[in-house]
Amino acid sequence: MIAAGIDFGGTKLMLGFVDQAGQILGQQTFPTPKERGPEGVADFALEKLHALGRSRGIELERCVGVGSTVPALANTKAGMLLYAPAHGWWDVPFARMLEERFRLPARIANDVNACALAELRFGLGRQLRNFLWVTVSTGVGSALILEGQLYEGSGALAGEIGHFVLEPEGYECGCGMRGCVEAIAAGPAIARRARELGVQAADAREVARLAAQGDPKAKAALRASEDYLAQAFSYAVNLLDLDAVVLGGGVSQSLDLAYVERAMLAKVIMRERRKVRVLPTTLGYSAALVGAASLVLPG
Ligand SMILES: [Zn+2]
Repeated sequence: MIAAGIDFGGTKLMLGFVDQAGQILGQQTFPTPKERGPEGVADFALEKLHALGRSRGIELERCVGVGSTVPALANTKAGMLLYAPAHGWWDVPFARMLEERFRLPARIANDVNACALAELRFGLGRQLRNFLWVTVSTGVGSALILEGQLYEGSGALAGEIGHFVLEPEGYECGCGMRGCVEAIAAGPAIARRARELGVQAADAREVARLAAQGDPKAKAALRASEDYLAQAFSYAVNLLDLDAVVLGGGVSQSLDLAYVERAMLAKVIMRERRKVRVLPTTLGYSAALVGAASLVLPG
């Protein structure tokens, strides 16, 4: 059984086919033709998946369905893209657009939820029933898996730890508040804090490189983010009694997760008896594509 998958990102569009074991049977990445709008993206994906399928001996018509991420807040059950701030799209019935074009069952999820679902089914989720997936990159996105299920909440907005306000006087956030986890702990904040400390670094990756070479100021900039993330994770653990926090995203690779785990546990109730882990994802760069396809793969 094979599903078609679309990882519809703000800048890149990854298309592919995924089998029931979570194996990718062919994938291709394009710049997202976002100027054509969501309908244009659906048309483009259909054309390119047909071509990719032909080159791999996979008939798109025989796929079990098509699953897609969206670079937006989304309601998975309703198949609706709710709001994509970067593109100004509101209330787009993207699952229906895919069904009309592909003539296959279609489901959508936001990219972070798709990563969490991929982890649940094909990665650490096989050992963990309750975990928070957190992407740390240019922002901080998160998704909740509770009792082995994605938990979206009443308005599909659950799990937004990126907008926990930890420093009311901190850096401004894209959401209009100040001092949100995203504003003070994601990649741009690491670079900004490093520059304020006098480090010459364009981005978080450079800060991490300098920290690895022993630069104490670069280390301090990273450590501040690690402390903020640990604090936010401790709130989530105290609220939800999680087994683990699983991290993905480019910036997460620069963080000392063993330190984050210790700092988190220091703020958790019953800490002496708890074994809450902070773990790197077991899935790679294509986690969101696999998660998208898994939306339509029978369990
Ligand atoms: Zn915010």
